[in-house]
Amino acid sequence: MNKVGIYYAYWTHEWDVDFHPFIDKVAELGFDVLEVNAGTVGTMSADERKSLKSHADDKGLALSYCIGLPHAYDIASADEAVRAKGIAYLQQMAAAIGEIGGGNMGGIIYSCWPATMPKNETDKRPYVERSVNSMQKAIKAAEDNHVFFNMEVVNRFEQFIMNTCDEAIAYVDAVDSPNAKIMLDTFHLNIEEDFVGEAIIKAGDRLGHFHIGENNRMPPGYGHIPWTEIGAALRQINYQGYVVMEPFMMPGGQVGSDIKVFRDLSIGLNLDEEAQKALLFTRGFLK
Ligand code: MN
Repeated sequence: MNKVGIYYAYWTHEWDVDFHPFIDKVAELGFDVLEVNAGTVGTMSADERKSLKSHADDKGLALSYCIGLPHAYDIASADEAVRAKGIAYLQQMAAAIGEIGGGNMGGIIYSCWPATMPKNETDKRPYVERSVNSMQKAIKAAEDNHVFFNMEVVNRFEQFIMNTCDEAIAYVDAVDSPNAKIMLDTFHLNIEEDFVGEAIIKAGDRLGHFHIGENNRMPPGYGHIPWTEIGAALRQINYQGYVVMEPFMMPGGQVGSDIKVFRDLSIGLNLDEEAQKALLFTRGFLK
C-alpha cells in the first residue's frame, strides 16, 4: 500500500509557516506523509531542519517537499541571470533536503508559478529548451543528495510548459537523469487529459510522486474525479511512491490568492475531520 500524505497548506493562509504543529496533527490523523514547502526548508538553519526531521521521525511520519518556483528563480527565463539564480536555488533546496536524508521534491520546478505565456508569443519551444538545459545542471545536486526532482504537470491556467503527461515524458527523457521524475496531480489531469487513467499508465515508471484532489480541489471523495480508474491505473504500473492529497478549501491570504479560492468551500466542515475521511477514502481506492 502506498504511503498517503497531505499538504500542510490545507490548514494555512500563508506558505511560509512553522511546520512542527502539522507534524503532530497529521500523525494524529493517521497520515504517513506530511508534504511541506521546499523553499521554507531550503532557508531554514541546519539545526531547524534537523529538528523538523527528528520530530517527523519520532512521529513515524515521512516528509516530502513541494514548490512552485517564484518568477525570480525561473529556470526557463530568457534572462540568463534569472536562470542562474533558479539553478542555484534548486541546488540549495536539494542540498538542504539531502542534509535530512533526501527524498521527494517536486512541483513547478522547471519554470515558475503561476505563469502564462507572454503576450504575442505562441511558441513555447525556446522555454522548454532553456528549462531542460537548466534542469540538466540543477539535477546533479539532486543526484548527489539522494533527492528526486518530480516535474509536476499542471493545467494551462497555471503554467504553459508542461500541461500533459506526454509533455512531461518528453521533458524528463530530455533531462535524462535517474533523479528526474514526473509528478501527476488529479486536479490538473482532470482539466487537460483525455483519460486520467491512461495518462498515469503512460507515465509508468517515470511517475515519482502523485498528488490527489477533486476537480474543485476539495478533499478526495467529494467531486467527480474517477478514483476507481485512478486506483486501477496506479496498481497497473505498480506505483510504490507517495500519494499526497492537496485540498484547498479556505479563501484568504497568499495561499487563497495563489490557489484562487474565491469562495469558502469549508463552510460547515471541520478541516481535520474532512482530512481523516479523505484519508480513509484514499486508502480504499488504492487497495
Ligand atoms: Mn499538485
